[in-house]
Amino acid sequence: MNKYSRSAVGVTRYNAPMESCAPATGIAFLASGSRGNATLVHSGGRGVLVDCGLSAREAGRRIDAAGLGRIAIEAILVTHEHRDHIAGVRVLSRSLGVPVYASRGTAHACAERLSDVPDVIVIRAGEEFGTAGFRVQAFRTSHDVAEPVGYAFQDTIGRRIGIATDTGVLTAEIIEAIAACEVLGIEANHDVAMLNAGPYPYHLKQRILSDRGHLSNACAAGALEPLGSDRLRTIVALHLSEQNNLPRLARTSMLAAATTLGLRADVLVAHQLQPVCCVLGERS
Ligand SMILES: [Zn+2]
Ligand SMILES: [Zn+2]
Repeated sequence: MNKYSRSAVGVTRYNAPMESCAPATGIAFLASGSRGNATLVHSGGRGVLVDCGLSAREAGRRIDAAGLGRIAIEAILVTHEHRDHIAGVRVLSRSLGVPVYASRGTAHACAERLSDVPDVIVIRAGEEFGTAGFRVQAFRTSHDVAEPVGYAFQDTIGRRIGIATDTGVLTAEIIEAIAACEVLGIEANHDVAMLNAGPYPYHLKQRILSDRGHLSNACAAGALEPLGSDRLRTIVALHLSEQNNLPRLARTSMLAAATTLGLRADVLVAHQLQPVCCVLGERS
């Protein structure tokens, strides 16, 4: 994993052509779904991972597949302690020599699994911190774990990226944190009719549908009303259930909402097995 080290990035940064003062900023959803989540947010050759529910080896393979192997990863930000978000965090943190950021509750719930990482930095929802050149704000999400959070990122020229997944509801706090983004990753876990008609046991259906479960396609589409702005360029549907959703359904419902609202945004669907990437425009 040495190729993702800080020194490798130094080469990229200092050799990059200086045509524009706007850094190249982008986001790669490396994997999304109940079998593993990992997202790389990067700007100017530096980056952070949000979650690593893949093995460290597989995360590295996907970063390479996305053409981002020279990005210097400087931190891993964890949203919550479910295995599909942290399975590879320990090994990757150790191999890269980078800190893990997490809420107090998440850090406590993961304490054993993170006991020998280089550093665990406890963050609080509502407070901003800086890493890899971004201003990052953590915000509370609503999920059946200790202290879940999502993250919003702002690069050096004010372009914003928001990621809200694994939440049963979109609270006013979440909406406020991820407003005015250029790229919005939002959970579209299930189609309610498919879930209700599907094979899951009753208690699991109730858990998914609850305020501490997962967002449906309809909830994600409904969120575009408060979250849509003329800055929004790309909407990415996240964490689709393989049992209870179809990419076509998630995309259609979000696209319909975007069209109704007159938004000029693309709608993409993140994938369990391969990266989905977007690069931000130069507009501030
Ligand atoms: Zn999850
Ligand atoms: Zn979860």
